[in-house]
This record gives sequence, structure tokens and C-alpha cells, in this order.
Amino acid sequence: MNKKKTLSALCAVLSLCCYQVEAQNLERVLRAAEIPPEYARVIRSDGQAFMNDLQVCLSGDPYLRYLVDKQHGLPDRYEPDDLVELRGGSYTILEWGMYLRRSAALALEELAAAAKADGVTLMASSAYRPYSHQERTYARNVREMGQKEASRVSARPGHSQHQLGLVVDFGSITDAFADTRAGRWILVNASRFGWSLSFPQGYENITGYKWESWHYRYVGRNLTYFIDTWFGGIQQYALQFIHEWEQER
Ligand SMILES: [Zn+2]
Repeated sequence: MNKKKTLSALCAVLSLCCYQVEAQNLERVLRAAEIPPEYARVIRSDGQAFMNDLQVCLSGDPYLRYLVDKQHGLPDRYEPDDLVELRGGSYTILEWGMYLRRSAALALEELAAAAKADGVTLMASSAYRPYSHQERTYARNVREMGQKEASRVSARPGHSQHQLGLVVDFGSITDAFADTRAGRWILVNASRFGWSLSFPQGYENITGYKWESWHYRYVGRNLTYFIDTWFGGIQQYALQFIHEWEQER
């Protein structure tokens, strides 16, 4: 065998090995992240396209994909350093003194402008909440409704997506929001603008929270595409997958 042939044979063996290692990692992560079989099957069947989409999501601002839930908290007393005050625009605000990270504030305006073009006005009712705020809310809920119910409706300090500065609660912050024009519009259109419903109906045992039709997290368009394409629109599955994948590295 001449040198060139040896080299190309070696490359073929190496790429086969790489592929096998990657396939094994994928299986391990699908299991660790508890991805339901119907999604795992589709992911396996088009592994290369999935990997390409995943790589896109792994670049850029890590907090867009940061898993924050009952089991996974933010870094101790995390506070974003690029908060800006919301001043309204294409959307209205419930009150002054609400903040979001710059990227989310820009994306909110973009979302709201599209809503407005369709004759729908979005109202931002709650946005960034610092650790100390969550500490007070959670303590009050525990006092008023007991530990178990408090955990269904609110997060322990350090475990709220609101602390990311990337989340908006819209409208009335009640179940009635789902049936308003704004609630219906945003459900259909949010992901085109990089916003994702965090706690969908029927997924309480996956997300840990009862349905919150008003709570949207800005994750960016690459990630909403990834969530919609591979995980049936369920943010929690995609973020669990990415979390486990990054643990492997
Ligand atoms: Zn919320």
C-alpha cells in the first residue's frame, strides 16, 4: 500500500471512530437528560443535522441556554451586568422600574412590534427579579400556602428564570391570559422572535411548574429553532439536553 492509500485508510478508520464516539455520547446524553423516546428516535435518525443545530446553540451567550429549574440553580447570587430599564415602545409596561438584559429588551421590542402590526398590544408585567426579591416572594408563599404549594407556583431563590434578566411575564399573570388576544398571538408567534414558553400546559412533572401561559424566556432564535425542530417546542427538554451535553465536555 502506498503512503497516500495508507493515509486515506487511516482517515476512514479515524472518522468511523469519531462517529462512534459521538454516537455513544449522544446516547448517554439522551438518557441522562431523560429525553422521551419519540424525540430521541427522530434525533438519532438525523444525527448529523441535529449535531449541526446543537453546535450553533453552543456558541454565543451561555446564559441563553442556561438550565435554571428546581434542581439547577444559577451561580451564587448571579446578577446580569447589562440590565436596561424597560420604557415601553411597541409594548406597554405595568409599572416603572422593570429591567431586562439588553438583548432581551431589544428582542421584546421586536416581538411587540410584530404583535402591534397584527393589532395586538403586549403588556410586560414582570421582568428581571434579583435574588433578594425571590427570597422574599418564596418565603411569603411558604408562609401563606406551605412548602409544597409554594414550590409549585414559585422558585427557590437562585432557581428562578427571572433572575437571568431574560424573562417577561405578560398581561394579567393569571390563567385568563391564555384566552386573550395577546395570549393567543404570543403562543403562536413567540418562537419566531427567539422567545420560548417555559412552562407549557400538561408538563408540570417535566418543568416542575404548573402551566404559566404568561411566562416567556428569551433564548434567541437559534435555540427556539432547536427547541421547535427537535424537542416538540418543549424548552425544558432542550435545555436539559444541552446541560447534560456540556457536562460531558
Ligand atoms: Zn414568570
